[in-house]
Amino acid sequence: MFWILKQKHLTVSRPEVNSKQRAETMAGLIEKWLRNPLLRKALKFCTKKCSKCGRRIDLCLKRYTGKNEEVCIECKAASFLVGKILDTVIEHIGISKYEVMKNLNDPMWRKGLSSVLEGIAYYGPRKPFTGYVPFLIVWNFTKVCNLRCKHCYEVAGKPAHNELTREEALEVVDKMGEAGVAYVAISGGEPLVRPDFFDVAKRIKENEMAFSLATNGTLLSKEKAKKLKDLDCLYIQVSLDGAKPETHNTFRGRNSFERTIQGVKNAVKSDIKVGIATTITEHNYKEVLEIIDLSEKLGADIFMYYNFIPTGRGRNILNLDLSPEKREKILNMLVNQMKERKISLLTTAPQFSRVCSESSFFSLTHFDTFGQTKEKQNSVEFLAEFVGGCGTGRLYFALEPNGDMTPCVFLPIKLGNIKENDILDVWHNSEVLKKIRNRSEFWGFCQSCKSRNICGGCRARAYAYFKDVQGPDPGCIYNKRYWIKVQDCKKNNFSG
Ligand code: SF4
Ligand code: SF4
Ligand SMILES: [Zn+2]
Repeated sequence: MFWILKQKHLTVSRPEVNSKQRAETMAGLIEKWLRNPLLRKALKFCTKKCSKCGRRIDLCLKRYTGKNEEVCIECKAASFLVGKILDTVIEHIGISKYEVMKNLNDPMWRKGLSSVLEGIAYYGPRKPFTGYVPFLIVWNFTKVCNLRCKHCYEVAGKPAHNELTREEALEVVDKMGEAGVAYVAISGGEPLVRPDFFDVAKRIKENEMAFSLATNGTLLSKEKAKKLKDLDCLYIQVSLDGAKPETHNTFRGRNSFERTIQGVKNAVKSDIKVGIATTITEHNYKEVLEIIDLSEKLGADIFMYYNFIPTGRGRNILNLDLSPEKREKILNMLVNQMKERKISLLTTAPQFSRVCSESSFFSLTHFDTFGQTKEKQNSVEFLAEFVGGCGTGRLYFALEPNGDMTPCVFLPIKLGNIKENDILDVWHNSEVLKKIRNRSEFWGFCQSCKSRNICGGCRARAYAYFKDVQGPDPGCIYNKRYWIKVQDCKKNNFSG
């Protein structure tokens, strides 16, 4: 529901009520709603899978937007209930019904909301919540890459011998669509090297899912950018690890800087939302402000600080990982810069939510910020805890080029293979995912931290350092003693 609130056009019709106030009202309503046993019973009924009609809540939301879907009598009753609930919410928040209907007409928002509601009914009103279906799958589409980046988690270069064929990849897309996934983020290797990339992207669109592309930019010609636009690609993320050619090229291998910059320019011209992703390490730490300046100059919409995770080839450059102090400094710098910049400053480091909450900004997640606030409202905190920081195993999981499912692209634990296993069966029953969701069993400061629900620490970093998905994220200032332990281990030839 908070996605709906964030649609810019919703804030235009009622300028006297800003998006933050709406979020607060909405959060209050959700909280009240989850605490009411009768309403929870109603939710269970509305989200039940109907043996005759299919995914009931999705149908209810479709019918709310005026689509005349033929359904059974029970689904009709559920539609009536959902309609009443949505009408109440709309009235409380003071947004236009027309705009809400418009958003629900977008399959990504509709599927996302369906999964949230089904998740609450299935798992109970947990903080943080777990979707019934992974909202997002990040798909490492191929191991092939034309660069050889030092920090590559995928150890990309040559193709894996068992990569999904074109036909298998298309079948996989259909499976994701059937499961109710809303968004597929295609990553790599370099996805654009695969000749079937656009066939797969087209199939994603046909399955009513949204998609984005993460690329090194070197192969992103004007024609390809236009093709992406024609397929409604939501977002292009280009990796840039330095503001100067030397910095970028040393890290990414080969002379790629100029081609990457050209790729960004082509992406910006295509009128798709563009993000610059920078993995910050000791190597480029001092250049971050210049990279943000360059991103802004190039016309990118987002600068995304990628947390370094020592996995894959990144394992060889453990010594470049930032200390907790430096990470904290960068996160604070991002918060301060947000006040002055046109470009959005975001990060994959989940501690960002904690840093924002300690400042005058508030954020619902580390990869999104909502704006400045003087007084923190309990209801907003509730919503941030509901969204919950690190999303692995709750909102998202990853797919390898051979179809192996893993909790996160940076977390190399096989949960199953999408060719053989059912997505939802793995999602609901994997012991690894259950462990990741159970934050009360985390150890280190991540267990008792008051920001546990809005952050949770990066589970991939915990695993990379301690081989335990419930371990502490040693990159956080609150886990400093574990960082020191790691340094001691490294001195004694840490190789684990
Ligand atoms: S201790 Fe863990 S949960 Fe708390 S802010 Fe740090 S990383 Fe996040
Ligand atoms: S484990 Fe969580 S915080 Fe870390 S990279 Fe994956 S999703 Fe992001
Ligand atoms: Zn039905």
